[in-house]
Amino acid sequence: MMTLSPLRINQERLRQNFQSLAQIGATTNGGVTRLALSMDDLEARAWFANTVEEAGLMVRDDEVANLSGVLLSRTPHAKTLLIGSHLDTVVNGGKYDGAVGVLCALECLRTIKEAGIALPVHLEAVNFTDEEGTWISLLGSRGIVGKLPLKQLYMKSNGAFQAALVRAGIELEGFIRAKRDPNTLLAYLELHIEQGARLEREHVPIGIVQNIVGRSNFVLTYRGKSGHSGTTEYQDRRDALQGAAQFVIGAHQHIRQRYENAIVNCGQLEVVNGAYNLIPSHVIMGFECRHTDPSVLQQLESDLLQWAEACAEAHRLTVSVQQNERMEAAVMDARIQQIVMDICDQSDLRFLPLVSYAGHDAQMLSQITPSAMIFIPCQAGISHNPQEFAKWEDVVTGANVLLQTILQIALHGLDER
Ligand SMILES: [Zn+2]
Repeated sequence: MMTLSPLRINQERLRQNFQSLAQIGATTNGGVTRLALSMDDLEARAWFANTVEEAGLMVRDDEVANLSGVLLSRTPHAKTLLIGSHLDTVVNGGKYDGAVGVLCALECLRTIKEAGIALPVHLEAVNFTDEEGTWISLLGSRGIVGKLPLKQLYMKSNGAFQAALVRAGIELEGFIRAKRDPNTLLAYLELHIEQGARLEREHVPIGIVQNIVGRSNFVLTYRGKSGHSGTTEYQDRRDALQGAAQFVIGAHQHIRQRYENAIVNCGQLEVVNGAYNLIPSHVIMGFECRHTDPSVLQQLESDLLQWAEACAEAHRLTVSVQQNERMEAAVMDARIQQIVMDICDQSDLRFLPLVSYAGHDAQMLSQITPSAMIFIPCQAGISHNPQEFAKWEDVVTGANVLLQTILQIALHGLDER
């Protein structure tokens, strides 16, 4: 019996699209800056919409500026299989983060359309707005899921954010209409660079994400008393920076000793009323913690806040706590993970099950539809940096695994698994 060779994406076309997109917002050092809703981001969107039209697909956008290319099914009441990522970047970011996922999704749709395969589901390649959090992280996917922090958004809705909304032609009042009915969705798939070095280290081309880390971030304000650095006696000092510094060192020691795979980071410190000859009165500090187990994350948060109090007491300070953002950990759909594993086995591709320690739109989507992520290696795990690099053969392998996954799910569904 003759076996048909599996369908493959057009890697030359994918590469040309990748190169065209990388020029939009290109920086002189080989990176990309396309902040969400900036002129460069809008240019990338216009380019994407044109490319979708050229491909003979339908352009779709919504009230929170998510932008998609859709391959419509002729089947009545067809559900939608969403495949996507993001075209926005951080300041001086890389060419691969997000872009690979959107472009490969689009390339898969084109390949399926050209092959004349009629599917019983709509396929939608989506670019989510502001994944990186220039304004609010995962803004577009939050909109689709109906988990927008509206209070926070309205607080920001003046000045620069308002200007960005006007530029993009969207209105905050309309955001809630971006919510999609979960019953219309079949699943969500996302291809992404790993942003870590595990796949490269093990020489494995495909990572299958099992879960995505939960994270929360806080602002601590230590308050003491300003004073002359020379004349204030030691027993009278209330040095806010000493409390903050003890917190930072102790927080890292604490989580390494007591937790497995937990992460804490303090990366923002504002010292108020301090100088080399002046005892600082205030320190405002931002920190975050991450864990994949929601109950462990909760424990971690309360341990760290207790430690913050202990550091305040030790230096006769007060500390106030403000929680900024909390993102629940997400579990990726086991059935889709199995489909991807089977595809890898059939294609003689090695794979690794992985935890994602970075946040992704899939984290949001998983709240309303079965979701999964496929990772490809990136050099030395470097990301959010102009040096970000993935071997082209790995991008192509990832795109083809994504294509097979789309076909499997679209043709056979998930229910009987
Ligand atoms: Zn990304």
